[in-house]
Amino acid sequence: MPILYYGNEEQKAKYIPKLASGEWKACYCLTEPSSGSDANSAKTKAVLSEDGKTYTINGQKMWITNAGFAHVFTVFAKIGDDENLSAFILTKEMEGITLNAEEKKMGIKGSSTRQVFFNNVQVPAENLLSTRGNGFKIAVNILNIGRIKLAGGVLGGSKGVIDDAVNYSNERNQFGRPISKYGMIKEKIARMSVKSFALESAVYRATQNIDDAIASLEKGGMEKGIATLKGIASFAPECAILKVFGSEVLDYTVDEGVQIFGGMGYSAETRMEKAYRDARINRIFEGTNEINRMLTVDMILKKAMKGELDLMGPAMAVAGELTSIPDFGSAPETVFDEYRAYVKNFKKTVLMMAGSAAQKFTMSLAKEQEILGNIADMTIQTYVAESLLLRVEKLAGRKGGESGVELEISLMKSFFFDAAEEISTAGKSALWSFAEGDEMRMMQMGLKRFTKMTPFNIKEERRKVAEKAIAENKYCF
Ligand SMILES: Cc1cc2nc3c(=O)[nH]c(=O)nc-3n(C[C@H](O)[C@H](O)[C@H](O)COP(=O)(O)OP(=O)(O)OC[C@H]3O[C@@H](n4cnc5c(N)ncnc54)[C@H](O)[C@@H]3O)c2cc1C
Repeated sequence: MPILYYGNEEQKAKYIPKLASGEWKACYCLTEPSSGSDANSAKTKAVLSEDGKTYTINGQKMWITNAGFAHVFTVFAKIGDDENLSAFILTKEMEGITLNAEEKKMGIKGSSTRQVFFNNVQVPAENLLSTRGNGFKIAVNILNIGRIKLAGGVLGGSKGVIDDAVNYSNERNQFGRPISKYGMIKEKIARMSVKSFALESAVYRATQNIDDAIASLEKGGMEKGIATLKGIASFAPECAILKVFGSEVLDYTVDEGVQIFGGMGYSAETRMEKAYRDARINRIFEGTNEINRMLTVDMILKKAMKGELDLMGPAMAVAGELTSIPDFGSAPETVFDEYRAYVKNFKKTVLMMAGSAAQKFTMSLAKEQEILGNIADMTIQTYVAESLLLRVEKLAGRKGGESGVELEISLMKSFFFDAAEEISTAGKSALWSFAEGDEMRMMQMGLKRFTKMTPFNIKEERRKVAEKAIAENKYCF
């Protein structure tokens, strides 16, 4: 990816065909023993020779996927005392590259993960990727792509886990019946399916948005590679949201998958035990979920500061709404009107909390990580809920209205039930952490108002979802 998007024509011609055909494998060397989340603090050094022809690279990288069989190494290092990283293309035959043994990992044991050492490696100057000091930008942009790809990957994993769990629940008999007949098992199957369907909706939405953005930039005359990077970068907050939400959905499904398997879920003989261990890494790599939660809020606030997004206007409008008599409006005519109103309200909770927190802490908001995390959680739930609603509405348009998407409406209602609770809890946590007196009372009231839903029979909605999967013996939404 770094060569494809940042390489010059010569570099692309030299490496891409063999990487694309699979003849060569590549690895991405960013992390070091002392620099993980704080990637720009890497210590690996590159020193340019006096004649300007060669860099000498020294340093150590850790946790490098594919290292064991890679031909091409993209290595991030600092030239001299530069503040920012630069990126270099190294190849395995270069003298001075050595590897540690394979790491003994909890999961994803099919992937090679090793430490890589660079001892006076002589790298031709033309192997510098992009320009000096541009490495951190390359790393960040490539990570955006990695995050959205990870979301698609964990979605596939999650569906596979549900297939196995449903199948097992249909085959395993206890107390004279298949365990899939029991309400608590149905509830698990439903909640796993609801979360996965919601994730898929958000992945479809963000990827289509990105494709559209790239197409529009290309139409405006931009070169494909630059348009791709710019298109993805403009949806960087969504990439972070999907990475966090997706990896946590998969962890939820594997955990409940193990539970449905009972003792067999704990046995190394089953795929479920492996899935449980394999899933865990997704919350750690491609930027930990803590870092991505912070990035989500940070990137949105930066967009607002750059004038690309009006946050303060709507936030002030919500603050004004809180002090006025509530407008209950007319009763919704369709389920979509009703759920659209919920999304609007969820957005108000985010605006209310982000607006007040930004006003209260101004520049020191970055130090209030717990509150940022709460706001990120509210944002994530709102984004995913809206994506799900948009998907079901669109499907209804194709399938003859509400009656054509009854099952999808059950999925939507079940997701919103949980989302409203999560937004309410995260909002309360933020509120109790910084507000007091009248402000606290008013915002607490607002939070209650904006996360309120008309009650429906959640057990029945979940049962409809579970019973469909059980009848089909797989994830089928
Ligand atoms: C199997 C595997 C494969 C990998 N593949 C690659 C690869 O191919 N290439 C590569 O370059 N790297 C790779 N990595 C490294 C991976 O990206 C890092 O492990 C990850 O970025 C976290 O860095 P760290 O392990 O140093 O954790 P740390 O950064 O030390 O984090 C430890 C904990 O502290 C938290 N934390 C850190 N900073 C903050 C902060 N400012 N505020 C709040 N919390 C914070 C983190 O969220 C985490 O919970 C891989 C790792 C693994 C395990």
